[in-house]
Amino acid sequence: MEQKSGNQGSAEDKISPIMIRNMSITYRTEPALWNIDLDFPARKMVAIIGPNGAGKSTLIKAVMGLVPITAGKVHIYGKPSHKNRDKVAYVPQRGSVDWDFPTDALDVVEMGLYGKLGWFRRPNSKTRNVARECLDRVGLSDYADRQIGQLSGGQQQRVFVARALAQDAQIYLMDEPLNGVDATTEETILSVLANLRKGGKTIVMVHHDLRTVDKYFDWVVMVNRNLIAAGPIKEVFTKINLDRTYQEKRCMSIQ
Ligand code: ADP
Ligand code: MG
Repeated sequence: MEQKSGNQGSAEDKISPIMIRNMSITYRTEPALWNIDLDFPARKMVAIIGPNGAGKSTLIKAVMGLVPITAGKVHIYGKPSHKNRDKVAYVPQRGSVDWDFPTDALDVVEMGLYGKLGWFRRPNSKTRNVARECLDRVGLSDYADRQIGQLSGGQQQRVFVARALAQDAQIYLMDEPLNGVDATTEETILSVLANLRKGGKTIVMVHHDLRTVDKYFDWVVMVNRNLIAAGPIKEVFTKINLDRTYQEKRCMSIQ
């Protein structure tokens, strides 16, 4: 495994937004991820790439506490992940969501605010305004009342990005938000993310299109059950690392 820091800058950048140590995750018998060590850099656009079944979704679900970690640890801004998870917004893979759920776009975005409100405070006109503003940022202000099941795939994805925006997090974890979306959605999401990064946020995205990795991202994590490489695009996004990442079966023996 090869990891380059690519970090320079102020003291606050010295604590990694997400630090993963010796993390393994086994769902049944075979490990989905094996012995991962990784420090995500602050204030960058980071792509996670690897073949189907490589453990990309598992990696970000582990950070969110959505799958149990079999061994190792995850820290968010220097603390055990559960203590700082409110600093992370998560956009799940679109296919994993039940779109028949009877709710409109504005409600979905407003749900992003519940964590901040706490259990006992109800949404109010202020939270509705924040939610409307976030829908506007993804170009969907005219769709606030639309049932989510009636939106196109790209619009659904933008609603989820708007929900993440409403959370006002420091770190944005997104699982293939550009997969199968229309050109307008892709441009909108990329421009929203570019603005977030300008504002000092950290963005980590599972990305499937190898042709756009060097165009869109600063940093790349290459995974296939093992961590193959992680670092600035120029240093680690190389043919040799791509070959190693996309080889058929990787397993525990690789260090
Ligand atoms: P990727 O996102 O890179 O395609 P995943 O993280 O979804 O990969 O899956 C990694 C491996 O773990 C795959 O072999 C997948 O079949 C398996 N897996 C994922 N989720 C579960 C689950 N909930 N139960 C059992 N196996 C799972
Ligand atoms: Mg996945």
